[in-house]
Amino acid sequence: MAKIVLVLYDDPVDGYPTSYARDDLPKIERYSDGQTLPTPKAIDFQPGTLLGSVSGELGLRPYLEGLGHELIVTSSKEGTDSVLDQHLHDAEIVISQPFWPAYMTKERIAKAKNLKIIVTAGIGSDHTDLDAANAHNITVAEVTFCNSISVAEHVVMMILGLVRNYIPSYQWVMKGGWNIADCVSRSYDVEGMHVGTVAAGRIGLAVLKRLKLFDMHLHYTDRHRLPESVEKELGLTWHAKREDMYGVCDVVTLNCPLHPETEGMINDETLKLFKRGAYLVNTARGKLAVTDSIVRALESGQLAGYAGDVWYPQPAPQGHPWRTMPHHGMTPHISGTSLSAQARYAAGTREILECYFEGRPIRDEYLIVQGGKLAGVGARSYSVSDSGKEKMAKI
Ligand code: NDP
Repeated sequence: MAKIVLVLYDDPVDGYPTSYARDDLPKIERYSDGQTLPTPKAIDFQPGTLLGSVSGELGLRPYLEGLGHELIVTSSKEGTDSVLDQHLHDAEIVISQPFWPAYMTKERIAKAKNLKIIVTAGIGSDHTDLDAANAHNITVAEVTFCNSISVAEHVVMMILGLVRNYIPSYQWVMKGGWNIADCVSRSYDVEGMHVGTVAAGRIGLAVLKRLKLFDMHLHYTDRHRLPESVEKELGLTWHAKREDMYGVCDVVTLNCPLHPETEGMINDETLKLFKRGAYLVNTARGKLAVTDSIVRALESGQLAGYAGDVWYPQPAPQGHPWRTMPHHGMTPHISGTSLSAQARYAAGTREILECYFEGRPIRDEYLIVQGGKLAGVGARSYSVSDSGKEKMAKI
């Protein structure tokens, strides 16, 4: 019998939902690169229900208890008194989502003598010390592609929200006003604007594809160029250096991983390279930007707006300056955990667990670390230095 610790975010303040806004989810056959969606043998949840909070349990309880395992579900994950810590000594599996990550540090991994696999129900395993996982021969797996389009949609929403001045206009309605001039004095069309993404991976490329339909001029910078056919089809302009791209763009969106080369890349100096009045959207990682530099740029007008769903630290404290800076459109870290995304990563987590318990290989697309080294998609997307400090971070 295995003990599984499942760390999830809290239920809604008004309690776990008893009904939903919609009755079903659209059926998606494949991801855009041809990868298949999760293929568990069965699921014990209704797609479209809240699975990512404590009462949702990722729909795993019937399956795991049916096999005789013990499932602990908790949102308590910080500090040595947390429920997570209390169960680490004999846990065989730890599962969490990047939105509410169980930080699997080397200290925690050393305490977890029975730990065999750490699963990210979502994308990005930077909350796990991959060096320590390697050293203890622990498998790390995540559900690649499950929420990439969810994030891309959030990016497009935020670009439109900022440029068209949606949130302040909504607030005038809520205040009982009809203040058209107040609303439109910061409102523009995106048509004809130049938009650039730092990185054109799964999310960045999906953003570009969607923005093409808005007749925007599309730019990107990445370590590798996209195939010529893709550049041609979308009419993309490639920039060898991100610093070369900033100055030609009205809107910049960050879609690269956090690693030593990208940490703090948006700062007082690089913001000077932006056009005055540019918009910046960051759903990749809070630490890509220097917190106070963003505040200063919004206050001076160098940036016309900033939006995103990633912060540092997370959860953001009450006094975090991004809560109160002008012209922002921040959300908590939610872009990758829509009900649609939850159904996919709950099914993907179930698939990974079925493989684990049945002794079948976990697909390469999901593997980050196995057998003491980076494996599968992890071998392409992550790097682990000798000190473990150069881990690439993918939420
Ligand atoms: P991908 O791995 O598909 O794409 C990342 C791209 O970034 C790759 O093309 C990579 O190039 C490129 N890249 C890496 N370093 C640099 C750099 N220094 N400059 C320019 N490009 C670089 O990842 P996704 O598109 O799926 O995700 C992107 C990021 O979005 C994640 O790393 C994560 O931080 C964030 N994310 C956020 C979520 C949320 O809920 N808000 C959910 C999921 C992801 P190469 O091929 O050479 O490695």
